[in-house]
Amino acid sequence: MNDVPLLPILLHPDPILRAKARPVAEGDADLVRALAPRMLATMYKAPGIGLAAPQVGEKLRLVVIDLQPDDTPSPMVLVNPEIVAASEERAVREEGCLSIPGQYADVERPARVKVRWRELDGTRREMEADDLLATCLQHEIDHLDGVMFTDRLGPLKRNMLIKKFLKEQKLKSREAM
Ligand SMILES: [Zn+2]
Repeated sequence: MNDVPLLPILLHPDPILRAKARPVAEGDADLVRALAPRMLATMYKAPGIGLAAPQVGEKLRLVVIDLQPDDTPSPMVLVNPEIVAASEERAVREEGCLSIPGQYADVERPARVKVRWRELDGTRREMEADDLLATCLQHEIDHLDGVMFTDRLGPLKRNMLIKKFLKEQKLKSREAM
């Protein structure tokens, strides 16, 4: 895993983050098999618990997640994931995003979701998720439709957070000069 080259993570307001990603097709098999371990390595290094392909510049419906329960790696690679059911009950959880680093906010979403996807070898999978995994799945699948977690905030909170992020980025780039 240490030899896997890392990928640059795109930051807001990169337009690729706003594009709708296309489904992974059979012809993408080699690309996706090469991309998934690089995305996982990039996510672990960040560090983060989820990463969607558009965040590394690939407009493909591919997501990697690892909540690392008890610090044990348990990577998930989700090809063409989709939410097929969501609970009426909602839950609020603090979210952040590797494409808006350093910014966090409470986001309200369905508490539980049922998700379908394919594994790298094409196996169909389906699971019901709650708690942190439900949040993470929804956050990453949103990325495939060009949706950022900040879009789920009220306008006032969203504007404040984005403004703060852009200001901090400006300071950072000035320090780098
Ligand atoms: Zn994100």
